[in-house]
Amino acid sequence: MNNINAILDDIRPNRSALFSFFSMMPKGGDLHHHYSGSIYAETYIDYVFQKDFYINTNTYEIAKDIGKIPTPNLAEWKKISDLPNTDQIKLKLLRNWSVKDFVKGAHSSDEHFFSTFPSFGSPSKDNYVTGLKELKNRAINQKLNYIETIFISIDLKSIVVSNESDLDTSLLKAQKNKDETELDEILNKIFNNYERLLNDVAIAHNEIIQRHHTDSNIEDENFKIRYQNYTARFKQPTDVFIEMITCFQSCVLSDLIVGVNIVAAENGETAMRDYWLHMRFFKFLEQKYPTVNYAIHAGELVSGMVQPEYLGKHIRQSLILDNLKRIGHAVDIIYDNDFINTISKLKQKKIAIEINLTSNEFILGVADDMHPVEIYYRNGIPIVICTDDEGVLRTSITEQYVLLAHRYKLTYEQIKEVVKNSIVHSNIEDAALKDELLAILEKQFNDFEDEIQEFYSPIVFTDKNILKFQNVAFH
Ligand SMILES: [Zn+2]
Repeated sequence: MNNINAILDDIRPNRSALFSFFSMMPKGGDLHHHYSGSIYAETYIDYVFQKDFYINTNTYEIAKDIGKIPTPNLAEWKKISDLPNTDQIKLKLLRNWSVKDFVKGAHSSDEHFFSTFPSFGSPSKDNYVTGLKELKNRAINQKLNYIETIFISIDLKSIVVSNESDLDTSLLKAQKNKDETELDEILNKIFNNYERLLNDVAIAHNEIIQRHHTDSNIEDENFKIRYQNYTARFKQPTDVFIEMITCFQSCVLSDLIVGVNIVAAENGETAMRDYWLHMRFFKFLEQKYPTVNYAIHAGELVSGMVQPEYLGKHIRQSLILDNLKRIGHAVDIIYDNDFINTISKLKQKKIAIEINLTSNEFILGVADDMHPVEIYYRNGIPIVICTDDEGVLRTSITEQYVLLAHRYKLTYEQIKEVVKNSIVHSNIEDAALKDELLAILEKQFNDFEDEIQEFYSPIVFTDKNILKFQNVAFH
């Protein structure tokens, strides 16, 4: 092991050497990634070409049919097969649906990032079997053996909430007054009124996930996938609560669905306004469903994105929760004016932090020593390395480990612990499965370490600028 720590230290400044090292290294699990943002745009493009979608020749929006397009605009829409320059269309779609060639200008990077999701909406919702197979193949290729995918939203069209706007008003009033008793009364009322109806919705949702899971047939002895449900924080309070109840309910009823999450831009107006409410919703539901594990996106904020007094609070506010397992992003902790207390509580509660380096760099402009990854690590908070949206961001889990090792001074031994965290802190409920995945990982690490030590030895430690391996020399 000491030898591999030394090897990693030697190759640390050289990113190409790091890529060759981390391409081979086992990586356990990826616990934070969104299904639709993890599929590369090429897959969606192939699909719309295969199905001969319509395309707006000015805006490059796509549509399966144009029945609802207003007549004056119809001239802009053409079948893809009727257009001459398909290479040009493909390139344009690639740029619209990912960060490829993105240059800041008319749009900010976070605006561009979040705009990609509705643009590829239709092909991402049509083709789950291809998408899941792509995730599995990439995971295996990158030496992952477990992924916990934030998958598809719950279809709540059948649920009509009576007096919804009155309920929203009451919830917002309780939030304004920070009146927990009043809030709990409203939440109890909603819960009791809708629990049974939502149970049916949860069953239907679970059947859909089970079907995609079975049809894609992606599990094998070395690879497992589990799914997370999610609610979107930009919705109105009652909608979020109803969606959250269904998310929890669905987890209770399924072995495949192992977690709940709350997603979408945290700096949005509604998301910022209702953060306190969302935490109280989780608090309420963790008591109703104590066996359900969940994670949240929180602290995905940076100076300049919101007013300074809104920074450094969301992570602290989440500490009212007892069953919260992980926090995604968590970069704004550096602005917390009660930082030491927050860090201590995170540690005490054994909450793991999901680190998304490329995502934070692109969306927030947070990288290098402005990223708190070392703060978490050095204070004994477990971290896991994740991709977030590798398709949109055109990255990979290997690249995330390269960035970790290149920018931060974790030893090989410490990185190995981080990899193990990705199984230990997963939401897998079946203890035997967790042990099995940890045993597979252990064996993969043994093989990797044998191979690495053989190949890289003897290393010349005398000159740090010239790394001489048995077969390769870097200058
Ligand atoms: Zn995310």
